[in-house]
Amino acid sequence: MDSASIRIWKEWFTRRVDFAWGIDKTRVVEGRLMLGAWGHDDNPASAIGFLAHEMAHLVEIDDRRATVDNFGLRYKRVMRLPPTRYSTGIYADPMTTQGVERECRVIAISMRILGAIGWSEHAQHEDSERTIHALRILMDWYNIPSRRNDEARREWCRKKVARALQQWSVERVRAEWWRKVVLVTKRLERAERRVR
Ligand SMILES: [Zn+2]
Repeated sequence: MDSASIRIWKEWFTRRVDFAWGIDKTRVVEGRLMLGAWGHDDNPASAIGFLAHEMAHLVEIDDRRATVDNFGLRYKRVMRLPPTRYSTGIYADPMTTQGVERECRVIAISMRILGAIGWSEHAQHEDSERTIHALRILMDWYNIPSRRNDEARREWCRKKVARALQQWSVERVRAEWWRKVVLVTKRLERAERRVR
């Protein structure tokens, strides 16, 4: 992905909804919703993958949390202690797969975004695999039902992603993106008026 593509990429953003490379947390800064893009612009391909992921979170999140720090998502990380005779050393709590399921929807949405800026299906799938691999750090990874190993869990995730891809066309993703941009803009403008 070259700098020209990044300029095209910028067409998705506005004065109120923006991003910065290297910030790891999405939050409102001086009247703008700044999406955190973990990557760096010296490795634009992976950086854009991270950015598309964060954009997809905005698309997926309920309206109420659109301007909350990190969209109000506080995923617990897996706690790994040394295994003993009585325990695997892995503690997963609470017993839900909500976090992983949300991430699977977000992966599908981000694939649509990457497709919209010209990424090949192959590149989209590579990015999806990279993200699915990263889900192991989420606590509820180990709650994925009756699956014994990581590869089986990844397969479970791939199916969730495939299902979400059926529900999220690129048109739906675009429409929801711009609906959220308008919503966020109005909310931030209202907050500014209150301050004055
Ligand atoms: Zn995520």
